[in-house]
Amino acid sequence: MGHSTDETNRVNDGREAGAVNVPSTRCGEFELIARYFAPLAKGFPGAYGLLDDAAVIAALPGQELVAKTDAIVGGVHFLVDDPPGLIARKALRVNLSDLAAKGAVPRAYMLDLMLPSTVTEDWIAAFAGGLALDQDAYGVHLIGGDTDSTPGPVTIAIMAFGDIATGRMLRRGGARDGDTVFVTGAIGDAAFGLKVLRGELTGLEANAADFLVDRYRLPRPRVALGPRLVGLASAALDVSDGLLADLQHICQVSELAAVIEAARVPLSSAVRAALATNAGSITTVLTGGDDYEILFTAPAAAGNELAELSQALDVPITAIGRMVAPFGGKTQVTVLNEFGRPVAVDRMGWTHF
Ligand code: ADP
Ligand code: MG
Repeated sequence: MGHSTDETNRVNDGREAGAVNVPSTRCGEFELIARYFAPLAKGFPGAYGLLDDAAVIAALPGQELVAKTDAIVGGVHFLVDDPPGLIARKALRVNLSDLAAKGAVPRAYMLDLMLPSTVTEDWIAAFAGGLALDQDAYGVHLIGGDTDSTPGPVTIAIMAFGDIATGRMLRRGGARDGDTVFVTGAIGDAAFGLKVLRGELTGLEANAADFLVDRYRLPRPRVALGPRLVGLASAALDVSDGLLADLQHICQVSELAAVIEAARVPLSSAVRAALATNAGSITTVLTGGDDYEILFTAPAAAGNELAELSQALDVPITAIGRMVAPFGGKTQVTVLNEFGRPVAVDRMGWTHF
């Protein structure tokens, strides 16, 4: 994930008198699991009520499991006084986003929780409440995990598992010369949302500011669309590091270069308004990250079917550029402005434009 916050760990730093610490004894730890996490395993027989050492994920005929893990760290990927339910949902959703971009249907996840002793039981209850909401929304179950104390900030690692037909996972390396580059939804909302939270973007209408902050705090993984891209997309990944950085990943593994047109990158009206305040630039949009949209390539022949899919699922799908042969042996991404001139993207790793 692309964002780093400067916040230090401030999760209930002793503010609340009588705070209930994470139980440090085995017994307390088991109580915590039984009270808050075991209910989230109900309905998944192979989780054995979180009373065994490991879980079983039944293999489906003709299918295999896609596995993905992503950790989020307080002060790095989220602000530590964000609401705990939202932190939980973000931790889960960033993993579901990866599964979606790989074409998989999410089924189950495991949760490793590293908690400082200052975290209260209320915090844990709210955290589990957030997971419960999203389990219902996305049809997944908690099937196991680990709980530890840490001298550092809250750290949450989730591993998610999803089903896909054997051999069909969408890869980074499948793009072909001449393929179109597509992206779902809109790009840059989260990057500007973080600017709002940091006080770096003022003068926006409250509605627009709230929209951007919400987009930073709560990704909308494209779980309905992702599996439908199997057979249409030649390469795919989710946009977490930044549109350019992630497209570069496809380029490297596919051994191609890419050209995108900045003016075609889809922007929300809130981002357009933010750009008008000069609080950020198109670079913010293209390199900001945390978009959790799907970036994919597809041959021209897939165009009609993609347009139908976009309609049917009500998910914007926008062509923003194309894959080309590497020039000078370089598998790089070139950004063109509305006059067809290369844009200098003034950020570390992108100064070579
Ligand atoms: P071990 O002693 O092998 O580390 P634990 O005592 O940590 O086992 O865990 C006991 C059970 O509780 C296991 O089924 C484990 O998957 C589950 N568990 C522990 N922590 C969590 C958590 N944070 N979320 C979900 N399940 C958990
Ligand atoms: Mg353990």
